[in-house]
Amino acid sequence: MQFQPSLPPENPAPRLRLKITPTADWKLRSGHPWLYADSIIEQSRAGQLGELAVIYDRHNNFLAIGLYDPESPLRVRILLLGKPRPIDSDWWRAHLLAAVQRRAGLFDAQTTGYRLINGESDGWPGLVLDRYDSTLVVKIYTAAWLPWLSEVKTILTTAPLIPLLSGELGAPSRIILRLSRNIQPIAGRVFQLSDGQILQGPALDGPVIFLESGLRFEADVVRGQKTGFFLDQRENRRLVESLARGRVVLNAFSFSGGFSLYAARGGAAAVTDLDISAHALEAARRNFELNRSDPGVANCRHNTVQTNAFDWLKSHSTPAFDLIILDPPSLAKREVERSRAIQAYQQLVRHGLASLLPGGILAASSCSAHVSATEFFDAIRQTAQQSKRRFTEFQTTAEPADHPATFPEGKYLKCIYLKF
Ligand code: SAH
Repeated sequence: MQFQPSLPPENPAPRLRLKITPTADWKLRSGHPWLYADSIIEQSRAGQLGELAVIYDRHNNFLAIGLYDPESPLRVRILLLGKPRPIDSDWWRAHLLAAVQRRAGLFDAQTTGYRLINGESDGWPGLVLDRYDSTLVVKIYTAAWLPWLSEVKTILTTAPLIPLLSGELGAPSRIILRLSRNIQPIAGRVFQLSDGQILQGPALDGPVIFLESGLRFEADVVRGQKTGFFLDQRENRRLVESLARGRVVLNAFSFSGGFSLYAARGGAAAVTDLDISAHALEAARRNFELNRSDPGVANCRHNTVQTNAFDWLKSHSTPAFDLIILDPPSLAKREVERSRAIQAYQQLVRHGLASLLPGGILAASSCSAHVSATEFFDAIRQTAQQSKRRFTEFQTTAEPADHPATFPEGKYLKCIYLKF
């Protein structure tokens, strides 16, 4: 079966061919996955949403194939580079298996929630695929995938994923579709697709329960942020677990208590979760309940405070915690917000330090792609120095292996650990 995006039947369109500028040619050849509209110097005809565009260099040599989006300045997202190949069902299946195989050996049966496809960096530009136990969640960030969804679903249900995955996945029992906010209107209007829709399998009457490093968590895969859980913080949580023994922990921007459960299992005396969302804190309390059988979790005092964490940290200046985690949402969604975001990170750390006991550890994380790791780390170090307290920096971290970042704009996650 040839996969064709839905072109009108009366339009057996000839291939959409693009010629691009030498600069864009160089960028694509070096592996960058985006072609902007202003880099196109010749186009054989108007293209349709999701259509496969074939990109040639100045000398008319084949360069790449990508998904075309006539509405977006980011006009083509690259699927295949280098050697031409038909984009047919075999190709799609191999493309999926390549992403799955890249994760071989990363997880054992104690971790049944992780990312299987991380967008551009896995050759699936604008699409992520997460596994939560036997539920798969596809989230798309570009409308160019909308015409391809039934094919994506077919591949997910027929590719031999099972032997490659850890745990007892079996065939995925359910596939959920998540849509980024910007594409929800066109998805509904043109494709009758909605955010949270079940593409395959039974309805859900609550969150999905999955394992991360042996801890049980719930994920609200239908309505929750991202695909229902912040799978990208797994490695940082493991590190926090190793640091937590006997400590009194403050987890600011806790969401559903990911860091808190690890800290509790690691022997923290008490954990306080701060989040603005009552829903997130209710999930955190349920996640503690789910793990009561662990002695560390059972013995840890768990408090939740629904609050604006910026204000809370500002108004609490008595040192009361000896492990503080600061993991705010992205503070720079756009490039112009970059310097304000850096200031906000510094302010969080400044106020956080006022609550940190001598000997305490501060972990500060940023998920803003517009703030580079170097900028972020330098800003936090500067704030730590300004505190006039002695400190040592003992670790910095980046994206975990199931969230690879193969191009600069794909890098977003960084965390720095300081001991005072
Ligand atoms: N650390 C979490 C992920 C944090 S995501 C984990 O490991 O899973 C960011 C969280 O910050 C979200 O739960 C969001 O509800 C919360 N949030 C956003 N703005 C906030 C604010 N001003 N004060 C407190 N929480 C906020």
